[in-house]
Amino acid sequence: MSTCAWISHAACRGHDMGEGHPECPERLDAISDHLLSTGLMQLLLPYDAPRATNEQLARAHTALHVREIESLAPKEGLVHLDPDTAMGPGSLEAALRAAGAAVLATDLVMRGEVTRAFCAVRPPGHHAIRAAAMGFCIFNNVAVGIRHALHAHGLERVALVDFDAHHGNGSEDILAGDERVLMVSAFERGIYPFLGEEPRGPNMANVALARGASGEALKAAFETVWRPRLEAFEPQMIFISAGFDGHRADDMAGLAWVESDYAWITQRIVGLADRHCRGRVVSCLEGGYHLFHLARSVAAHVRELAGA
Ligand SMILES: [Zn+2]
Repeated sequence: MSTCAWISHAACRGHDMGEGHPECPERLDAISDHLLSTGLMQLLLPYDAPRATNEQLARAHTALHVREIESLAPKEGLVHLDPDTAMGPGSLEAALRAAGAAVLATDLVMRGEVTRAFCAVRPPGHHAIRAAAMGFCIFNNVAVGIRHALHAHGLERVALVDFDAHHGNGSEDILAGDERVLMVSAFERGIYPFLGEEPRGPNMANVALARGASGEALKAAFETVWRPRLEAFEPQMIFISAGFDGHRADDMAGLAWVESDYAWITQRIVGLADRHCRGRVVSCLEGGYHLFHLARSVAAHVRELAGA
């Protein structure tokens, strides 16, 4: 019997980058409302995310970046970290909880308290590079979790699957060249952050897709690139950067994926984890901005994680 944790925190709603910003608190409301109304939430074990410690953050970021974020956090108003990314009074707490969720998820899975975990958090993380915030991301939550699995739990091989529509340049910046990690990803070519077509290390398998690419392209990426690399790597744990902005209704990107594609890819990742690493999967929410389809895509993803 597999079990799945649901890790979140009320503080993740308190990060508000201003009226009309697509990366908004309502994203989490839409997801939890839908999971509650469909009964899916009942299948999950809920946990409050702790704050990541400075030591945990420093495994993925420079100490200077962590100090800068702490010192820039405003008491009122907004401070911009880049043109798209801002901090308000609740943002530091949200960012610490978002990264802490990935740490707790790793602990729960490694201790065998749950088989898998989903971190319903914001800000997202995969654009945050070692030394800076960018692209709606403050700390790289999934990279903090991965480094925690390697350092605190002594794992030697950890995989990251990133299916957000945007290239996970921050994760690549932090993890490229770290041979304990294999990162496989698929993203739309030619959109933000305009990187990724040339992988930055041999431990990166990047698949750049054309605008309009359907779920068939995602499935082909899995079958022809991700699966052979993952099988050969034999991960001891699999992390997911779970972004849902590749949905065809989401206008932050031009991909044409639908809910059943997210179910399909999650099923395949879970299958690999069952064969290679006792089912261990930690998934962290990244993008996804069309509230209606974000909620339903997360539900499709979590249903597979929960083995429902
Ligand atoms: Zn994205």
